[in-house]
Amino acid sequence: MPLDTLDIGWKCDCSEERLEQVVKSLGAKEISDIIEQDGQAELTCQFCGKSYHFDKEHLERLKLECLKERIAHQDHNN
Ligand SMILES: [Zn+2]
Repeated sequence: MPLDTLDIGWKCDCSEERLEQVVKSLGAKEISDIIEQDGQAELTCQFCGKSYHFDKEHLERLKLECLKERIAHQDHNN
């Protein structure tokens, strides 16, 4: 096995999807605040430093997903 294939080393497994989960974990109210105040969000992966940009539409979509999930999980949280 050629050494240079082993040499690539550790690779961060972050993805936009993963950062979406981070945004959604803030909650719908917090996402609303971000939309109102900044109209966008810039998140940086704390492991590899890669930054991900979320525009207003993207944040609105995450907020909706957040609300939907809350409704879906309502029974468990009671
Ligand atoms: Zn990363």
